[in-house]
Amino acid sequence: MADDERCPKCGAPLGEVIETQSGKRLQRCSTAGPWDPKVKPTGCDYVKWLAIEPVTLDETCPKCGSLLVLQVTRFGKKLKKCSTGGWDKATKKATGCDYVEWIGSSSEPLDEKCPKCGENLVLFTTSSGKKMKKCSTSGWDKDKRQATGCDYIHWL
Ligand SMILES: [Zn+2]
Ligand SMILES: [Zn+2]
Ligand SMILES: [Zn+2]
Repeated sequence: MADDERCPKCGAPLGEVIETQSGKRLQRCSTAGPWDPKVKPTGCDYVKWLAIEPVTLDETCPKCGSLLVLQVTRFGKKLKKCSTGGWDKATKKATGCDYVEWIGSSSEPLDEKCPKCGENLVLFTTSSGKKMKKCSTSGWDKDKRQATGCDYIHWL
């Protein structure tokens, strides 16, 4: 990484690489104020998000036997994917093996009915490994920032 990289907005040198709490890395303009997500930035607001390099794992793909890589998305989600998988920007198509395994929270359908509304339950595993049964109709409205659907939850 070139140290003398300049801000495309104002031409000042870029500041040091900062790692956020969710593990994302970014570089800000050196004229910007101290990094604090709660405080409105002062100075130049240029932010350069740094790609998180995929890590090759000591595991093989169940589909094709190639090595898996661990990748972190810009949204902080972790996934394992096949090292042969890729993305062809020109054709906008996935290339190679398409095996992907998301790490963290996951849900699987259960053969049980919700005692509140009678819909199916799902087994939900949080990214910290806790398990709960919850109603399949439950969701989260990102715009309104409130839970939607049935609120039945049973921690295991
Ligand atoms: Zn700048
Ligand atoms: Zn594969
Ligand atoms: Zn329900």
